[in-house]
Amino acid sequence: MKKLIINANVFNGTNDKLIEGVSVLIENNLITRIGDIDVSVADEVIDAKGGTVMPGLIDAHVHITMSAGFNELDAMTREEIAIRSARISEQMLMRGFTTIRDVAGNTLGLKNSIDKGYATGPRILPSMAAISQTSGHSDYRQNRAQERLANGHEDSPLMKTGAFKVADGRAEVLKAVREQLFMGASQIKIMAGGGASSTFDPLDTLQYTMDEMKAAVEAASDYGTYVAAHIHTAPAMKRAAEAGVMSFEHATIMDDEIAQIIKEKGIWVVPSYFTSELIANRKIPMPNEETYKKTERVGKAMMKSAELIKKYNIENIVYGTDCVGKSDVHKAQMQELAAIEEVFDTITALRMATSNCGRLFELSTYQLPYQEGKLGRVCEGAYADLLIVDGNPLEGVACVMSDESKKLIMKDGLVYKNTL
Ligand SMILES: [Zn+2]
Repeated sequence: MKKLIINANVFNGTNDKLIEGVSVLIENNLITRIGDIDVSVADEVIDAKGGTVMPGLIDAHVHITMSAGFNELDAMTREEIAIRSARISEQMLMRGFTTIRDVAGNTLGLKNSIDKGYATGPRILPSMAAISQTSGHSDYRQNRAQERLANGHEDSPLMKTGAFKVADGRAEVLKAVREQLFMGASQIKIMAGGGASSTFDPLDTLQYTMDEMKAAVEAASDYGTYVAAHIHTAPAMKRAAEAGVMSFEHATIMDDEIAQIIKEKGIWVVPSYFTSELIANRKIPMPNEETYKKTERVGKAMMKSAELIKKYNIENIVYGTDCVGKSDVHKAQMQELAAIEEVFDTITALRMATSNCGRLFELSTYQLPYQEGKLGRVCEGAYADLLIVDGNPLEGVACVMSDESKKLIMKDGLVYKNTL
């Protein structure tokens, strides 16, 4: 099946000027040519009417199966969680997100269902369970912890569904990482420091010893892939950098020294500016005053860290919203684009949500579940994951954000929306 998009301008994921007046040829699920192409080669012609063809958006930090508040999830059956997650997946795709990296959640069934056409949603790069030490950021036994530990019922329901896992010491960490890889994790997520929204682990705690963290990195890199770490403070980041962690999630409280280390080692940074602003201003409900204080601190620090990202010209940054909870919260997924445009500039926002993610995902080598084409690009050999927007996104991200100007959404060569 050959589809030809005609009368198009192209933002390819990196260029700061549109490629004007070209056609884009799609053969099955891949983009095979961009240029002056005769319509006679195509089975189907799509007239872009002068709109911009750009890569489908990518969100590198979501929790797609955490489809409600944690206490609510604790009380749900797996089927209920799955049905909600499927709905959230569809909403993400219809917003224009054609790929997501899930960084804590049992996404195996959802991913398989989407890939096989039984559910609608973005491509999923699963981390499976986020791994943490006892008392760490994903030790969700804190709800009724003493009772659970005392009675030998060690797992919280969230942990039982495979969203979180506790492992201590080198041997357990190696095993936990290998288990996630065995289930198809394309990267490993660990918790390498205190949490902001959690009621239990103080923000300044260091989580995982150097030895444990190195064990995680070893097991991941033996399987061709890398470790992403939930991490807020500079001391935690310094330890993780030394251990070989390659993706810093949040990375909110940086100092000059860690910013330089991040730059030198090419570590990826996944900030969430929109969410930070919300939590800094107490706009997302938190369980108690203590968590409000923690989230305020990271929310404010993230804006300062943005200045360090600029100062040291850290280019390895990607789009990550930390979308979690009910589908309402996920509406923020699109707002991050405007937040980044404000913090940096338009081209940085667009690259972070497309080609930068594609470059980060290459760290997964053969563990990346989508091997046939490039992700986050509109070029020959890329997956046909693309949007057609009415307007020039390089002049401002508004036309990418508005549902009305997002005329076409295509994933894997299939059209999910077409209002051209
Ligand atoms: Zn997160």
